Amino acid sequence: MAKVVLDPGHGVETPGKRSFDGSLLEHEFNFDIAKRQKAVLERHGVEVVLTRLNEHDIPLAERVAIAKHYNADIFVSDHADAYGSTWNSANGYTVYTYTRIDAATTRLAQCVDSAMSEVGSIRNRGIKQADFYVLRNTPMPAILIEHGFYTNKVEGPKLKDTNVRQALAVAGAKGILQYFGIQYKGKEEDTLKAVVTYAGDGDVFAAVLVAQKMHCPLMSVNDFKTSGIKAERVIQIGGKPGSDRFSSFKDAANLI
Ligand SMILES: [Zn+2]
Repeated sequence: MAKVVLDPGHGVETPGKRSFDGSLLEHEFNFDIAKRQKAVLERHGVEVVLTRLNEHDIPLAERVAIAKHYNADIFVSDHADAYGSTWNSANGYTVYTYTRIDAATTRLAQCVDSAMSEVGSIRNRGIKQADFYVLRNTPMPAILIEHGFYTNKVEGPKLKDTNVRQALAVAGAKGILQYFGIQYKGKEEDTLKAVVTYAGDGDVFAAVLVAQKMHCPLMSVNDFKTSGIKAERVIQIGGKPGSDRFSSFKDAANLI
């Protein structure tokens, strides 16, 4: 069985590592991406170990030790990129390898880079080499994915978008599957994890709160029905017989 260690970079204690307005926390993004990749890989029979299971930081040496302990076939570190000290135009995703690599690592980077180039919403900066600790010290093929820049006013919101995150994570997982010669099955791109729908205008405020809390898209019941979008979970606010905006708000409060 193929074994992958996914490494969601940083933790809540790591200084910086957030957008200038504080609305994107890199540790949260990295963890979310890794969990989405994990779900896709496990569905294809790949064994996945994460280097952290909560928001707390894990020392780099320990991340490497986990990969060694589990004798992982490959190591993939998930990050989002930052540049400069004010909003700027740096943009795109990058797949990094260590500066001296073997053929297997080159192939892993190529598989992931080309799968991610199909996402389209984030520009491909290509495969680059860097002397990162987790790449230098892992004995197995290892890559580090910078999924785009949260120091960019256009790209930052994309990295917060659930659909973009899902697309990026599915693409990364597809590349990993391709590396192992496993055929990708399914269409996660078409299925949202969750969507919040609202019945009437009076339910919108409550629905917005729930959607923000659950980090999922929001649309009216009718728009959702006609959109053809599929979701694993539909959270409807309002619309029950005899309900009003106050009961909707109470229902919403129970969800957040
Ligand atoms: Zn990072």
